[in-house]
Amino acid sequence: MSHTGFRTQVVHAGEPHEPPIGRPVATPVYATSAFTYASMEEVERVMSGDGPGYIYTRHGNPTVAAFEDAMAALERGPVACAYASGMAALHAALFACGLGPGSTVLASQDLYGASFALLHKVFGAIGVKTVTADFNDLQATRAVARAARPSVLLAESLSNPLLKLCDIEGCAAIARDGGARLIIDNTFASPFLCQPLALGADFVVHSATKYLGGHGDALGGVVVACAEESRAALVSVMRLVGGVLSVWDAHLILRGVKTLALRLERQCDNARQVAGSLRAHPRVLRVHYPEPSPLRERVLRPPHGGALVSIELKDNTRDAAFHFMNALRLCVRLTSLGDVFTGVSHPASSSHREVPAAERARLGITDGLVRISVGIEDIADIQADLNQALEAGAGQR
Ligand code: PLP
Repeated sequence: MSHTGFRTQVVHAGEPHEPPIGRPVATPVYATSAFTYASMEEVERVMSGDGPGYIYTRHGNPTVAAFEDAMAALERGPVACAYASGMAALHAALFACGLGPGSTVLASQDLYGASFALLHKVFGAIGVKTVTADFNDLQATRAVARAARPSVLLAESLSNPLLKLCDIEGCAAIARDGGARLIIDNTFASPFLCQPLALGADFVVHSATKYLGGHGDALGGVVVACAEESRAALVSVMRLVGGVLSVWDAHLILRGVKTLALRLERQCDNARQVAGSLRAHPRVLRVHYPEPSPLRERVLRPPHGGALVSIELKDNTRDAAFHFMNALRLCVRLTSLGDVFTGVSHPASSSHREVPAAERARLGITDGLVRISVGIEDIADIQADLNQALEAGAGQR
């Protein structure tokens, strides 16, 4: 049948285009919501799982699959499933552990604020109980696990915002003893610095919005599981809850991943120097940064300590923190991290805003705490900006 009408031509001209002769060196952005086949029998073959192929982008897309394959390789797991955000990924991992009414999650007390909110508001609403423990005290954590009999343990490899390292092997042993699964949010470390599955975790979760993407232009999340059996549950959340990773974001994040090692090496080196100079600064009360230790050697790729530094100002107030942050000229004020540029955030009013003030105080997330995600700029420029802002902040008070 020839399509001669102009109105028909504008709709169909040029499509479908034959695949190119010669394979693209980079995975193309498959910006298509659906896939067509020469016959309904072929559609049936794919739909029924009798043969390979894509049907509908909520069920899978080659650009997203390329990112998933990259993450499965980097985190050394057999299954990776991508989602629209880190929160969607964490939700999927928790769901894949089979949580239901009456089950319990044992969460580290040092978690991203929204992760607590997810546990309490979303999983709490379906009857899942959350208890917390100080995961840096393994004996206490084991005691809570024995009493609470959780089906899931949840922790961050490098915690937000106090940058506490998780003894993943120790937590995995506690989980194993009680028949629980261990989920590690590896967002702050990235697979360059830490590979939780190799240390005994069952699931690793990332906000791909941060170091994986690395350029502040994409939102995404991913779960990598240690066992093939988790694939069905992870895919089911993707298809039925529907929080799938956009192909455009998958493309940007996959592109970002290619420079992850280069960026992180530079960022970690810069962060080490920032931590060193801020420790000596008269206006800084405390610097949070993982110092060299046997635990750091086991959890993070030596000789690195991560690319984040959190500081508490001597004047440990929100006003002082805001004055300091407002005075920055190079470092960017934002509620995110992991980008090529140096960024600062105020956890008490952003990432941990929903955590009650008394609980924040108990955890050590003070009003004068500022989290610095160190970028790849010249270290002298980063340090000069932080120093002038500390002076300017001091002058205003
Ligand atoms: N996990 C951690 C440790 C985070 O810091 C964040 C966001 O800041 C998330 C998960 C959620 O990621 P997203 O914003 O991509 O949903």
